[in-house]
Amino acid sequence: MDQRIKATPVVAIVGRPNVGKSTLFNRLLEQRKAIVSPIPGTTRDMNFGHCHWRGEPITVIDTAGLDLTSEGATDEAMKRQADAAMHKADIILFLADAQIGPVLEDKVLGKYLQKSKKPVILIANKADNPKTRKQTEEPDWLKFGMGEPLPISAANGTGVGDMLDLLYDRIAAMGLGAKPMPEIDARIAIIGRPNVGKSTLLNRLAGEERVIVSEVPHTTKEPQDTLVTWVDEGGTERNVLLVDTVGIRKRAHVEPGLEGIGVTMSIGEIARADVVILVIDAVEGLNLQEKRLLGLALEKHPGVLIAVNKWDLAQEKKLGTAGDYKDYLATELRFAPWIPVVFMSAKTGDRVGKILGHAIHVAREREKEIPQEQIELFMEKLKKVHHSAFRKGENRPKVYGMTQIGTKPPKFMLVVYDKDTVHPNYLRFIENRLREEFQFDGTPVRVLSREIE
Ligand code: GDP
Ligand code: GDP
Repeated sequence: MDQRIKATPVVAIVGRPNVGKSTLFNRLLEQRKAIVSPIPGTTRDMNFGHCHWRGEPITVIDTAGLDLTSEGATDEAMKRQADAAMHKADIILFLADAQIGPVLEDKVLGKYLQKSKKPVILIANKADNPKTRKQTEEPDWLKFGMGEPLPISAANGTGVGDMLDLLYDRIAAMGLGAKPMPEIDARIAIIGRPNVGKSTLLNRLAGEERVIVSEVPHTTKEPQDTLVTWVDEGGTERNVLLVDTVGIRKRAHVEPGLEGIGVTMSIGEIARADVVILVIDAVEGLNLQEKRLLGLALEKHPGVLIAVNKWDLAQEKKLGTAGDYKDYLATELRFAPWIPVVFMSAKTGDRVGKILGHAIHVAREREKEIPQEQIELFMEKLKKVHHSAFRKGENRPKVYGMTQIGTKPPKFMLVVYDKDTVHPNYLRFIENRLREEFQFDGTPVRVLSREIE
């Protein structure tokens, strides 16, 4: 299927204090307030969120969080705000107050914005009624050199639809249209109980300076996956698809049988992933629900990574070192000791960027193919180990050879003389030896057996 993506256009709301930036931001986001979070801006934090108009997503940045005092912003502070917005946004909504009319501060800011090459749309907010709307036709507004302002009322919604139409026309004219889907390095499902920090992680990733986020629809309806593109330390462009991000945000569709676990993603969605990132709360540790969830996910044989989140809190509470924590998880995860553990703080952003790199590594391990001659060497070595690994009198299967018969996850076929002599323990022994030799970090490895013909 020729899936196409659209880089989600980024729109920044800029204006002096009290013109209604936050009010407009909240109106645009409406149901999606839950995903609002601070973005690490160049100088100060700002809020961002997603809004949809006619099924098309846009990312909206509210710069009201930048340090402007309501007593009268200094030019310096306003320039900082404008810089942050101009840096991140594709298009700028420049707000002024229709009831007060344009003032000197607006003009200073407007001039500064025009220096950027980004398109600026002049908005006269607080045009709540016909009388104030009429006032926006005064010639004074034309002094910005941006044409007539578009009157809206962020408070009662008047004109906001027209504003979004205009916005989308401009965006379309800028050529931010659909592009073919790039090659994906890994499809990732972020799973975990409520409150462990999944949406914080998602927002943090979306807010990273180096990262471009695009929404990918499965159908023509709402986007469900998020494409995250960035350039890694080696200068290579990486593409990671976060599956079912709507599920992460909305905490929707819990499959029967999973209610008790509070899973936000269906097993079907998990099956689309190459790698599952199980996010757990460092302070609460791994509980029974999570083990069950992991067990269910593993039935689909994805790569797995455990992200121990809220590591900042764990350190504050002096819960021990990362080494201690790994030991603790190793005892809990005896059934899958091959799962890598990474520590992070979605809230502070610490090591968040590394998670995707780890996930790509796991995806690579999962599709690894071992050349037959290396398998032969491995079998030679194995013969020597046999003597020490098996107690006297224990039934040791006579093995003819082994080949890799599949990837995603790696699958090996052991050819034996008599299948009855092959116990599950023996297959596990082979798996462990394979891991010692070829790593297979974070991926299940399947070892099957058949009798020689
Ligand atoms: P910001 O500092 O630019 O983010 O402005 P706010 O969104 O905090 O709004 C400043 C004040 O203007 C608040 O009291 C809002 O209720 C009010 N306000 C915002 N939009 C409108 C509007 O469309 N009409 C009216 N009458 N008041 C508004
Ligand atoms: P979700 O239900 O898994 O999507 O969890 P959220 O992302 O909504 O996070 C739940 C709560 O944990 C929120 O109050 C977050 O601010 C907080 N939180 C998330 N990540 C961290 C973190 O790394 N450290 C700390 N201290 N709190 C976090």
